[in-house]
Amino acid sequence: MTDCLFCRIVAREVPATVVAEDELALAFRDIDPQAPTHVLVVPKVHAPDLAALAEIDPAALAAVGRMVAAVAAQEGAESYRTVFNTGAGAGQTVWHAHAHVLAGRSMQWPPG
Ligand code: IMP
Repeated sequence: MTDCLFCRIVAREVPATVVAEDELALAFRDIDPQAPTHVLVVPKVHAPDLAALAEIDPAALAAVGRMVAAVAAQEGAESYRTVFNTGAGAGQTVWHAHAHVLAGRSMQWPPG
């Protein structure tokens, strides 16, 4: 069994509130939401971060990008923020590439 949390969510070994799925990607609600809409979009293939995903499986990266937009539309978000944290210093805590989709409140720039 893998010890990657998001691989285990993809495999349905760990429960999650799934909001979208296709052959290459899965979207589910963040367990600790930072906005009224906070969804994580992950590739089904394991890659530790965005750059690794681009190298390992560009089609899966494209699927993640399409699913980000589909989830935002599904959530009724006219505008939204997409975040890929990369590295512990930037706040990455799960080492399986994922896009945060945040919407439903005003956003600050620069982010903290
Ligand atoms: P990161 O900090 O950018 O790596 O994002 C990891 C995200 O995963 C955080 O926002 C966590 O709240 C979220 N998270 C951790 N465990 C779970 C879970 O079991 N289900 C859904 N989201 C989770």
